[in-house]
Amino acid sequence: MNVLVLNAGSSSLKYQLINIETHALLSKGICERVGSDESSHKHGIDDNEVVISIPMKDHNDAMRHVLEALTEGENKAIDSLDEIDAIGHRIVQGGKYFDRSVLIDDFVIEKIDELAELAPLHNKAALMGIEACKRFMPDKPMVAVFDSSYFQTLPPKAFMYPIPYEYYEKYAIRKYGAHGTSHRYIAERAAAYLEEPIEDLKIITCHLGNGCSMTAVDHGVAVDTSMGLTPLDGLMMGTRSGAIDPAIIPFIMEHEGLSTSEINDVLNKKSGLLGISGISNDLRSIRSASEEGDDRAQLAYEMYSNSVKKYLGQYIAVMGGVDVIVLTAGVGENCEKMRRMIFAGLQPLGIVLDHEKNKERKGEREISTKDSRVVILVIPTDEEYMIARDTFEIVHENESSELD
Ligand code: ADP
Repeated sequence: MNVLVLNAGSSSLKYQLINIETHALLSKGICERVGSDESSHKHGIDDNEVVISIPMKDHNDAMRHVLEALTEGENKAIDSLDEIDAIGHRIVQGGKYFDRSVLIDDFVIEKIDELAELAPLHNKAALMGIEACKRFMPDKPMVAVFDSSYFQTLPPKAFMYPIPYEYYEKYAIRKYGAHGTSHRYIAERAAAYLEEPIEDLKIITCHLGNGCSMTAVDHGVAVDTSMGLTPLDGLMMGTRSGAIDPAIIPFIMEHEGLSTSEINDVLNKKSGLLGISGISNDLRSIRSASEEGDDRAQLAYEMYSNSVKKYLGQYIAVMGGVDVIVLTAGVGENCEKMRRMIFAGLQPLGIVLDHEKNKERKGEREISTKDSRVVILVIPTDEEYMIARDTFEIVHENESSELD
């Protein structure tokens, strides 16, 4: 079965075509700056990747280009749309309605729309992607895979905020979490790597990329996570502040004369590694600067690693211990120095990094010492595969139940 995985952002459309039986990536690409005059389309795998500048006025236009690129020209992956069996959509916010992936029907579309208030840019974009698919491929089954559904197992003591209860009742303000597909994938892979049932393990998963989040997975169940009502909460990130004293917000607004959208911009786009270093949100540039003696670049490194360290402590306390810590995404998979700083000094907790193994670069790997009580793993994330797998399973189940 070939599954088209779509990830629609407010001005982008990312896609992968995956054969689920062989786990083969048939094609991939991204349309960027959709809706502007400078839109572009990158399509193809590795050496065959081509980038073209092409006007795309909306997600419908982008979808048309994607389907053309998949079926026509030198870089095509399939001969016709008949070879796409199903479509999996990444949806950021599933609210309280969805604790798992679901087949998309009118009810699901209505709820994704209703939840757009909690994730305005993402849910609306996903709806545009869904509409475009309905238009070009009306008969294909579609599945919604929610970033938030993995965290529907959180107990109220973890998902409620200590603010007046009426805001929960009136506006459904609570922790929903994000990156759920990634955390679910690496937690499952960690158990498979160790050849132990996930139900026997206390796992802390760390997704450290441009966006960063951590999750406590206690015996296979997510019990806490660092992102909140929105992906702004929790760890320090590339351009996002993560958790800060909330009183800072009205203070800056008053003193700098900022509107709500301007302060949102400051916290989402100008903070984190970028805000502290003043150089970049990309850790590679910050690393070069810190090696050249830039104090703020070094401070950014120290704050980021300290932020991860503090969440490790929280989640060890929440679960009463930890067996496995898993790292993934751009920083977690690639930055040896950050991993060294995160685990420095944690030996008394039974967490011992192997400095030689920490230098290895590729694939799923163990980077703790043989004697470390806690296993540290690096597992490259694969959210698209997870979306494709959910899509396959749900479509398959649905077809089987229709035959019964
Ligand atoms: P996103 O959250 O946008 O999916 P990624 O998971 O791709 O982001 O992570 C992107 C970040 O990973 C980059 O901003 C960069 O800081 C970091 N990164 C990638 N490769 C390296 C590397 N070799 N060393 C340090 N940092 C890296």
